[in-house]
This record gives sequence, C-alpha cells and structure tokens, in this order.
Amino acid sequence: MLPFKLIYDEGYDLNLGTHVFPSQKYRLIHDRLLADGVATREDFLAPEPATDEDVRRVHSQDYVHKLKNGTLSRDEEAWLEVPYSKELSRACWLAAGGSILAGRRALADGWAANIGGGFHHACPDHGEGFCVIHDVAIAIRRLQSEGAIERAMVVDTDVHQGNGTAAIFGKDASVFTLSIHQEHNYPHPKPPSTVDVNLADGTGDDEYLAVLEKHLQQAFRDFSPQLLFYVAGADPYREDQLGGLALTMEGLAQRDALVCDYARRNAAPVAIALAGGYARRVADTVSIHVGTILAARDAAVLKARAR
Ligand SMILES: [Zn+2]
Repeated sequence: MLPFKLIYDEGYDLNLGTHVFPSQKYRLIHDRLLADGVATREDFLAPEPATDEDVRRVHSQDYVHKLKNGTLSRDEEAWLEVPYSKELSRACWLAAGGSILAGRRALADGWAANIGGGFHHACPDHGEGFCVIHDVAIAIRRLQSEGAIERAMVVDTDVHQGNGTAAIFGKDASVFTLSIHQEHNYPHPKPPSTVDVNLADGTGDDEYLAVLEKHLQQAFRDFSPQLLFYVAGADPYREDQLGGLALTMEGLAQRDALVCDYARRNAAPVAIALAGGYARRVADTVSIHVGTILAARDAAVLKARAR
C-alpha cells in the first residue's frame, strides 16, 4: 500500500491504435503497479472530468467550443497530431480532472500522482504535439480560483520543452515554471519558461543530473511554492523514439529522486503527471513511469519518518 493516492481511470486511454504515442500505457502502468505489489486497488482514486468552466480558465472559449462540438479546422486537427474525436476530448477532460484531483490530494497528503496527464504542449487557443488541453494548468487555475493555493511551481523534465506551460504562465508571477529539455527538438519556437534549461543532443546521466540539481537549488531559492506539479516525462530515455538525450533507466530514477528530494526538503506538496514516453519497447516507458511513483513513495516515507 502506498502512502499517497494514485489517480486513474480506464477512460484515459485515447485508443490510438498503432500511433507512436502509446496511450495504452496508462492501463499498463496501472496493471504493473498492481502486479508488482507497489500499489493495491485501494490506492487508486477515479477522477471526475474537469468542468468546462475549469477548462475555460486556461483555454479560449472559442477553442473549447470547437473541441466540444467537433468543429476544429483541418489545420487545428493536424496540429494535435492525434486524430480528433469527441471521445478524445472526453478522455482529455477526464485527465484534466485527474490532475485537479492529484493537486487536491497532494495538498491533503503531501503527495499524489495522476497516472495520466502532463499535456504540456496545449496552448490557450490551440492544441499540439498530442496535447489537447493543458491538464496541469487547468488544475493550478482551479486550485487558485478556490483559494487552495496562491503559488505553484511546475518542474517539467519531459525531453520536449513545455511550450504550453510557458505560454499560459509566462506573464504570471504566481507560477514558477522550470523546463529541462533537449534544445534541438520539438517545439519550435520555445516561448520562455521562468527557467529553461536547454540541453545538447546526447546529454547523459551525469551531466543531466548535475545541471538539474543546480537549477532545482536555485528555483527553490527564488520561489517558495505551495504546490509543485512534477511533469515527469519518460522520454529523456536513451531508447526514446522522439527524444535525443541519453539517460539510462538508472539516471531517470535518480532524476525522479532528485526532484522529490528537493520538494520534500522544501516542504512542497508534490502532484505528479506523467507526460511523454515513446521508448522502442512500451514496457520500458511503463518501467520509467513506475519508477517515478517509486521515487515519490521513497520520499514520502522519508518525510513521514522525519515528523
Ligand atoms: Zn515529450
């Protein structure tokens, strides 16, 4: 049994078939967590979909209307890079509800993980790069709107820069955004995050971890979040089909431990969202995401012992 809740619903699966985005990974992660005895059924909570009002705190009325009614233009559909359907929209509303619930549970329990979400390329007026709506931003805006938090931090370790996060929070001092990513990779252009760490192609474990630690240290000196959203992409992995960094499984586990450790030592509750992962073997992507949950578990146990 875990010391925090996992948020999951079968409806997260976008049913994309043989697409490079393995959207069946959510179910596979759920199943692996149970099969390995990391979690029990009681550890999982099912989310409610976000409300349209929640989504409109981040996205334009016009874009939300098009998603609900299936009236995106051909170009707007093409930018998504996943086939549009009303079912796709429903799955994304559900994932956004999952991130809201993860944020809420993190505030209550110190930690929580959405076994989905992390759609960090979604922008206010359009979606792109497999990201339809920005679940993490929707969660932050919802929690701010009800007065649960004022200040949030987003730490994004997906191999691709969090351009949607940057576009949404770029002019908002209440949300500190840190993105560490491969410079020569999608998206182009990269609107500025609070801190962008642009890594060279082929960056490996040692350099990655040293640079990440330096920036985490500085981020927590500059900003004191009441909630940290960890966008924990699995795609800095050296076997990733859409990434050009060279982290090993071990390096990725150390990355997760580092982020969780900094949050713990700075008393920031952590809500995890999964984001990308396109390893040649889907089982590797599943292992990396499960590793993130294990890192959070270890940090949560340490935190509880220190009380
Ligand atoms: Zn990515």
